[in-house]
Amino acid sequence: KSQESQAMLEAHQWLTKLYHHLLKNSKDGREAYQYLIDRGFTDETIQKYQIGYSPDSKDFVVTFLEKKGYHPQTMVKAGLLSTNDHGEYADRFRGRVIFPLRNHLGKTVAFAGRSLGQQEPKYLNSPETELFHKGRLLYNFDLARSAIRKEKTVILFEGFGDVISADQANIHHAVGTMGTSLSSMQANLLKKYAEQIIICYDGDRAGIEAAVKAAKLLKSVGCQTYVARVPDELDPDEFIQKYGGDRFKREIIDTSDTYISFMMNYLRRDYNLQVEGDRITYIEKVLQEIAGLDRAVEREHYLNEIATEFQLSVETLKEEVQRIRSQSG
Ligand code: ATP
Ligand code: MN
Ligand code: MN
Ligand code: MN
Repeated sequence: KSQESQAMLEAHQWLTKLYHHLLKNSKDGREAYQYLIDRGFTDETIQKYQIGYSPDSKDFVVTFLEKKGYHPQTMVKAGLLSTNDHGEYADRFRGRVIFPLRNHLGKTVAFAGRSLGQQEPKYLNSPETELFHKGRLLYNFDLARSAIRKEKTVILFEGFGDVISADQANIHHAVGTMGTSLSSMQANLLKKYAEQIIICYDGDRAGIEAAVKAAKLLKSVGCQTYVARVPDELDPDEFIQKYGGDRFKREIIDTSDTYISFMMNYLRRDYNLQVEGDRITYIEKVLQEIAGLDRAVEREHYLNEIATEFQLSVETLKEEVQRIRSQSG
């Protein structure tokens, strides 16, 4: 590894410590600490995830990194500093709660800063750097890996809070996509470690659309994919904080939909099944999805369901599915 990227990596470890220290020990950090406690994170959790606070200063970190002997230009490249209009170096994260983003080895390679109040943007992340590629990192994978292996299952969340609250409630086999769409690299990584993948995104429109995309991708790389139904008014983090991990497991995780049930429910919203034309288009779309299933038993199961609901012959549906399968090779 080049000297420069070594310096970039080191600086991230120093700043992880600094931000965490400031959260616990500085006067300004107190409000941020209280914010975390108010949203239900314990002191132990704050410690475990090395959550921190970046002071509301334009050059606190500039000075710190300079004293440590790092070249400011390298630190800009690392995404830790920015340059302002006057060409001066400046702190990138100011007055934010800091979540270190760790790679699979547990080393911090980037930061996400959450605003304390309602300031926008809610989250400010490190830019893409040679250490950090958003599409390659799954939040918490380093800590969750052994639990994922043991459970043979992984829960996929969108947010940091979801992952952390789940962990705090004894659900350790969870990782986060950090709000971006799942990449095929991440999908393949998950497949390597887990037999089952449960997508548990927010229940709002954006979350559902993202779940459809992630589910299709996971299915296409051959994962046993499930999608949890999360109530629209709470995200998984809030649900766990309000009702606890056991209830979350029982009511949300254990009642996840199979890929096909999820897709059937999803597609159903777009069509009025009382109208013949809509009904036919809907059935065609569902057959497309069923045709994509690897196991004949699984295909047969859903074809029977469709046949019963719409009073069609299973034979006809089977033929149609065979036709689609032979077309797509
Ligand atoms: P919180 O619980 O702290 O309010 P959240 O995790 O519930 O946040 P969402 O709005 O559900 O936030 O977004 C899910 C994830 O998407 C976040 O955890 C974060 O990783 C990412 N994200 C959200 N907003 C932004 C943003 N403005 N810039 C970059 N990433 C973002
Ligand atoms: Mn959301
Ligand atoms: Mn959310
Ligand atoms: Mn949230």
